[in-house]
Amino acid sequence: MDVERSKPATVGDTFGRPLKSLRLSVTDRCNLRCKYCMPEEEYGWLPRETLLSFEEIYALTDLFTALGVDKVRLTGGEPLLRRNLPTLIRMLRDNRRITEIALTTNGILLAEQAEALYDAGLHRITVSLDTLKSDRFRSLTRRDTHAQVLEGIEASLRVGFTCLKLDTVAMKGFNDDELVDLIEYGKRVGAEVRFIEYMDVGGATDWSLAKVLSRDAILELLGRRYGPVEPIAEASSAPAQRYRFPDGTIFGIIASTTRPFCATCDRSRLTADGLWYLCLYAKEGLDLREPLRMGVSRDELTALVRSRWEARKDRGAEERKDLEQVGLRESRLIEIQKLREDPHLEMHARGG
Ligand code: SAM
Ligand code: SF4
Ligand code: SF4
Repeated sequence: MDVERSKPATVGDTFGRPLKSLRLSVTDRCNLRCKYCMPEEEYGWLPRETLLSFEEIYALTDLFTALGVDKVRLTGGEPLLRRNLPTLIRMLRDNRRITEIALTTNGILLAEQAEALYDAGLHRITVSLDTLKSDRFRSLTRRDTHAQVLEGIEASLRVGFTCLKLDTVAMKGFNDDELVDLIEYGKRVGAEVRFIEYMDVGGATDWSLAKVLSRDAILELLGRRYGPVEPIAEASSAPAQRYRFPDGTIFGIIASTTRPFCATCDRSRLTADGLWYLCLYAKEGLDLREPLRMGVSRDELTALVRSRWEARKDRGAEERKDLEQVGLRESRLIEIQKLREDPHLEMHARGG
């Protein structure tokens, strides 16, 4: 092993933010149609031949880790729809610079895959769970698979996953009456609940500011039931601010809409077909598939990634917030026609 491979370079963007966390979208397909993410009737999919093979994902991840990435999150679309995902996890485990491999899933296929994922060496799972009511789940997702999600959560705990997180998109008038129930459910199964503010990302064509349940409103709602909520001081670039109730229960809030945290953002995203996005809100990504398939050397690709990160100025959520201050935050980020022309603009293509 040469020196460069054993000690990752530290690369900073224009604001000094390091390149640390990589979200790998392994498919753009999904078995749900959550209305905050995929509310339209029809979608176009990335052509199959453009999807990165596991070997290609491994090779690209390897060069990212040479530049400082040490955390990888598998996402999508629904990542468990990608066949043989445990094989990719095993391959990634061979890269010793990766200290954490996590997965974000809607949980539907988790019961059948939890054991294989655990055996492959997956470190952490986050399951998206917006409601405990099956009829509400149906109206949110246009699918009738709520029971499978709950079974998936239980199975993942049974096979040995610890530190399970449950992510809930909190929406006014939809699930604001369930925050306490979700916390209680988390306590019961031993999982940490995190509330995510509804974001106006690409694909969220139903978004409006009026539907956003803000961090302050969430804290007020929960404080009424549990008493004073204490913020936990942590030196972390994680998107969630964590809090503790007087009874010791910990939960998190990802306040991307009302309190963006771009200042410490070390995350970037690779789509299933190899486009690299420096921000959830970025309109364009850098195609890494084409040069990889053309045989461009690892050193050249690494230099390309490094120079892009060093030029990074993205602070998408903060810019959206700035527009709001002057009354210019239009109801949706990207028009439907534009989303149809370029599916990469969709949240389900670039991963949450
Ligand atoms: N399909 C998987 C899932 O749902 O967990 C992984 C991909 S999904 C895009 C990742 C996360 O993004 C989910 O937790 C989902 O709730 C969140 N998400 C999608 N659209 C969102 C929006 N408009 N605002 C906030 N979070 C959103
Ligand atoms: Fe829902 Fe995740 Fe699928 Fe989007 S990608 S529709 S959030 S399950
Ligand atoms: Fe990072 Fe962009 Fe999200 Fe800000 S909006 S936290 S820069 S991904």
